[in-house]
Formats: sequence, structure tokens, C-alpha cells
Amino acid sequence: MGSVQIVTTILAAAITAVAVWLAVRAVMKMTAVIRLGQPAPERFADKGARTKKMLVETAGHTRMLKWSVVGAAHWFVMVGFIVLSLLVLEAYFEVVTPGGGLPIIGHWTIFGLATEWIGILGLAGILVLMGIRLRNRPTRPGGRSRFTGSTMWQGYFVEWVVLLVLIFGFVIRGFKVATDHFEYPVWATPLSHAVGAALPAWTAGVSVAAVIKIAISMTWLIVISLNVTMGVAWHRFLAFPNIFFKRDPEKAAGSGLGPLRPMTSEGKPLDFEEADPEKDQFGVAQVEQFTWKGLLDFSTCTECGRCQSQCPAWNTGKPLSPKLLVLSLRDHAYAKAPYLLAGGGKDLTGEEKATQEQLAGVDVLAMAEADRPLIGTAEEGGVIDPDVLWSCTTCGACVEQCPVDIEHVDHIVDMRRYQVLIESSFPSEAGVMLRNLENKGNPWGAPQNTREDWTKGLGFEVPRVGEVEDFEYLFWVGCAGAFEDRAKKTTRAVATLLNEAGVSFAILGEGETCSGDPARRIGNEFVFQMLAQQNVETLNEAFEGREKSKRKIVATCPHCFNTLGNEYGQLGGEFEVVHHTQLLAHLVAAGKLTPVQPVDGGVTYHDPCYLGRHNRVFAAPREVLGDAIQGELTEMPRNSERSFCCGAGGARMWMEEKIGKRINVDRVEEAMSTGAKTIAVGCPFCSTMLNDGVNGKGAGEQVEVVDVASVLLRSVKPDAPAGEKETEAVAG
Ligand code: SF4
Ligand code: SF4
Repeated sequence: MGSVQIVTTILAAAITAVAVWLAVRAVMKMTAVIRLGQPAPERFADKGARTKKMLVETAGHTRMLKWSVVGAAHWFVMVGFIVLSLLVLEAYFEVVTPGGGLPIIGHWTIFGLATEWIGILGLAGILVLMGIRLRNRPTRPGGRSRFTGSTMWQGYFVEWVVLLVLIFGFVIRGFKVATDHFEYPVWATPLSHAVGAALPAWTAGVSVAAVIKIAISMTWLIVISLNVTMGVAWHRFLAFPNIFFKRDPEKAAGSGLGPLRPMTSEGKPLDFEEADPEKDQFGVAQVEQFTWKGLLDFSTCTECGRCQSQCPAWNTGKPLSPKLLVLSLRDHAYAKAPYLLAGGGKDLTGEEKATQEQLAGVDVLAMAEADRPLIGTAEEGGVIDPDVLWSCTTCGACVEQCPVDIEHVDHIVDMRRYQVLIESSFPSEAGVMLRNLENKGNPWGAPQNTREDWTKGLGFEVPRVGEVEDFEYLFWVGCAGAFEDRAKKTTRAVATLLNEAGVSFAILGEGETCSGDPARRIGNEFVFQMLAQQNVETLNEAFEGREKSKRKIVATCPHCFNTLGNEYGQLGGEFEVVHHTQLLAHLVAAGKLTPVQPVDGGVTYHDPCYLGRHNRVFAAPREVLGDAIQGELTEMPRNSERSFCCGAGGARMWMEEKIGKRINVDRVEEAMSTGAKTIAVGCPFCSTMLNDGVNGKGAGEQVEVVDVASVLLRSVKPDAPAGEKETEAVAG
């Protein structure tokens, strides 16, 4: 060992010792913070499925590849990070001796070949990612980007480290080539040989370049260890457990979509018959009341801003960005952690749990952080502003896009639950809806005995459950379908088509009440449970004696479709629920409905969030429309998984939209930009929102918003003038 190697060895050992010590300390700190969360025992079920999904999602980059160029570039960088970590290890041999290398595999040509090409592709990948970050930097002329609010220096730092580590990998190899210490052939390692041709035959160069590479790598480790909230770096490790513990490992995408989690206390579902707010946790009022998976979610956020770029609230000037919400919760959790780890925290009656002695050594900043309300305005020092909390439509675009499977909607609804159930604090205008749900069983407060009014004037009898011997489908009409004029047209169109196709169906009529979706999404789990239990009882009675596959329900409202199909199981109601567009697509394919006249003028389709993203029904409505228009749909730029919300979900239908541009107007502008004369929808709330948007733009004469079922009916029964049949009948 020469004098240069003695120095490089000492330097490498010293910086590595410091970095490893800090990293161990950081991992212990993060683990301690995450463990502060509430239990979530269900996350340990299905370990096999979880392992498989984690490997597929990480190795295959199945979520990232949706953003194809970024996804491909990130894949090469990720593979480069994992495989080329071996070359960082090899550098420890190279600081000791210029000819050093990894034992055994370090002499295999295949290892040289693989690392060479992963290094080259990693270089290309990181340059692409750096270019994309620079092109989208928030300070660029032209305004907000997905990186707005991200900690930009951290992203630049991580990218430069990757770039320099890769470059120094080739410099080490180059010096080895130049000094004849390199044993891989030119065909396997062309770049290393090219670099070697340009470098002097300086033997010490190998060890010097190796110690620089180690120093860069360890500086990275030191910096991230001193910044445990640096998700852009930590996600390299945390993404694996976060994906492993996702809510539903069976789902291909959107694990945190569809049903909401039941309210839990100490990891057990809350039973409202016995629940006591002084003993049981009602939603989330303190950051440590999220589950440990919630705290892991917050720690894993990479600050990539994909969620933000798709969020309808953020895109229309509201204060909500799902990314910033996650970052606020993360920063608050870590800042408050010293107080919590010292034993601090409030019990459910609001009393401090720790003694003065326990808190005596806690940092003053942590104590101040602990005093901040989780939900509160800037003046109150709140972590999350109420306007942020109530801007969410629960559309799920954030969850859909998040590459590390963060479950934003669950966290938002958990915070809403506490606000509504304990604080009675929510936008006042939604109070009318909640009162109507409690007293009348529907959000409009319409009399229950008018639920069947939509059947009047149809040319056939609509059978009721109990009045018929048997039925194949229970037609769940929904409150909008029963009481709201536009939605009634859809109800009538569906009933007419089912009758035309010879489907045996029956309705509950006055036995139906609201599915409970708006109550659950606003956070009023109590009212949801009340309505849902009643409906589950009614439905179980209606289907008595039938196995699950024969307990078939067709619903026109995607919110009912989601609630009945995905959430009633939590209350003992197992049904096979289809959306009307799925059943209609099946009936057309089976030849039971025959579109005869093409609907012209161009048709575009707006995906309802609770049908599309939340339940992955993208094809059926498009098939029905394709059959009805006998041609191609005109797609909007934001469609299918990336569809843009109408603004009504998450009980936003019942709240005023006071901040920013109206979401429905944004969506209508996009729909109208296609030039289509018909905007087809598959949800009564989308219909209301988009109709309002079209009318607000004074385009009601030129553009029509209409349900997929009505479009099909016009094609199947062209003898009736478009739209008139349903309209007249409703009026009658
Ligand atoms: S659910 Fe939709 S509105 Fe809510 S934060 Fe996510 S993207 Fe934004
Ligand atoms: S998409 Fe996921 S990882 Fe990216 S900023 Fe949003 S929450 Fe964080």
C-alpha cells in the first residue's frame, strides 16, 4: 500500500464511520416516529400478495411508467442505484489498492458488462430527470408546476450526487484501463475504455477517484441522515415497505381508492352502538392519531408533485394540494415527535398525558409544535387550513397518480371525521344535507312517498320487490335518480332499456334510502352507518336465500354503486353491484338491445371519478357510446385514469365553491374544446355539475349534457325525438 492509498483508506474509513453512525441514528428516529401511529393490524394480512405486488410495482415501475419518459428514466436510475451500490462497495477495495475489486464477481466479464451498461443508461436517465426538474422548476417563467412547494435543493442535491457517483465510476475504471489494472474486454466496457484512453497512466488516480466517489456517496448519506424528512432521498428505502403495506395488495392500481376504511380506534373498527368519544378515537385530531401506515405514507412522499398536478382543487386555484397536505403532516409529525417520544400527548378528554418532569427536557420548538391544532387557520397556527380540508372532492386523482401508493383520501376523510363528529365544524351549507339525510333519508329532503314518481307515465309497469315472484336485478334508483329532474330522465331511460331487453328487474321504491355516500365522504360516519345499516337490512331481506352471485344490483349513480358494492360488505351486506353502463354494454353485446340509428354531432365522455378511477370502469360506457354513435368517441385530453373531476364528489355537491375557478367550468371548457355536441356522463352529480357549467357559459343551446343511457335509448328507439321521450314522460 503506497502513501496515497494510506491516506485514501483513512479518509474513506473516517467518512464512512460518521455516515453510518448518523444513518443508524436516523433510521432509529424514523422508526420511532412511525411507531407513534395507531395500530393497523390488517396491513399484515396477505403477505404473499403484498410481496408480489411490491416486487411487481418496484421492479416493473408499473405506477411510474404511466409517465413514460420520466418512468423509464427513473427505472434506469433506480436499477443503477441498486446495482451500482456494488461499485461503491468495490471502491473500498480500490482505495486500498488500484487493482482491487470485488471478490469473485468483480472478476466476471458479465459483471463488468452489466455494470457498464447500467451505468451508461443510469447516466442518460439522471440527465433526463435533471432536465425535467429544471424545465418544471417552479421559478420558471409561466407559473406553477408539479414541483411548486417541493424542497427543490433536495431534489437537485440527490440528482447531482447520482450523476457524480456515476461519473466517478467511469473515472475509476478509466484510470484502471490507463494503468493496465482493468480486466474487462473493450466489447463489454466500451465507455470505460474510451475514458481510459483520455486519462494519464496515473496509478494513484484509481484510489483518489475511488475515495472521491466514496466521499460523495457518504456525503449523501450524511445529508439525508441529518434530514429525516427528505423524502426525495428516503423514498429509495421507504417506498418498498409503503407499497408492501398498501391498503389492498390485490388491486392493480389505486389501492387507496374505492371503499373508505371504517373508523377505527386502537386498530379495531368502531361500533357506534357502544363507542364513547372519551374512550374511543373518533377520526383524527392529532397527527399521532393517524395509523403508523399514515405516518409511513407521509415519510415516503418523494415530493414529485404528480398528485398535485392532477388535483382538481389545486388546478382551479384552491389552497389544497395533496402533496403540500402530505408534506405539512410529515413536517408536523417529525417536529412534534420529541414531545410525543418523551411521553407527551393529549388523551381523548384533552388532558396532557406526560408529567412535567417527562417534558422538562423537550425542545421548546417541539413543545410549540405540539400546541398547534391539526386543523386550523394560519392565525390559529393550524397545520392544515380548513379551506384545504374542505376543498377535496375525494376524486382520487392523487391516489391514482402517486408512485409510492400514498393514501391521501383516507387521511383527508379521517381528519374530516373528527371535525364533523366531535367539533361539528364543517361548511355550514352542508348542514342542510346532513339534516335531510337524518330526517328524510335523502339529501334533498324530498318526501319519501315521492320516490316512485319517476315511474309515472312509462308505458310499462315497474315492478317492486315483494310484488314480483322473482327478479334478476334489483334496480337501485338512488336519491338523485328518484328526486332530481335530470337524473330522473336517466332512471327512466335505464328502466325503458331494461324492459326493452327483457331483463327482469325490480325496485325497492319507498323502501330505499340514501346509500350514505355524502355523509361518509363529508366525515359523518354516524349518519352513514345509520343509513347503510337500514339499507343492508332491506337488501338482505330482498335477497333472502340467495347466494352472493345472485344478489345482483344495478345502480345508475356511481356513488351508490361504490358504496353498495364496496362498503356495505363492512356492515354485512354482500352484493354483486354493476353500474348501468356495464349492464347496458352487456345487453348490447348479447344482442338484446340493438342500436339502429347513429347519434351524430360528436360525443365526448366524462368519466365519473367513482365509476372510473375508484372502480376502474372505463370501457363499458365507451362501448355503449361507441355502439350508439356507431363511430369513435371524441376523447377529452384528460380522460380515463386521468379524468378531471366535475367538482361534486366528497360531498362537495352540497358545499359552496367560493375559492378559485369553478371545477365544473374548467371541465366543461375542456369538453367543449373537443367540438362535440354531446357530453355524455354516467353519474347524476356529474350531469348536474356539467349542465350547470354549460349553462353558465351560455352554451345550453349548442351543447347537451346527457347520460350514456339516454344516448343509447335514442339510438335503440329513434322513433322518439332525441331527449323528448324521457323529458315528456318525466313531465307527465
Ligand atoms: S382526492 Fe382529488 S381533490 Fe382530493 S386531494 Fe386528491 S386529487 Fe385533490
Ligand atoms: S404523488 Fe405521492 S410521492 Fe408524489 S408528491 Fe404526491 S404524495 Fe408525494
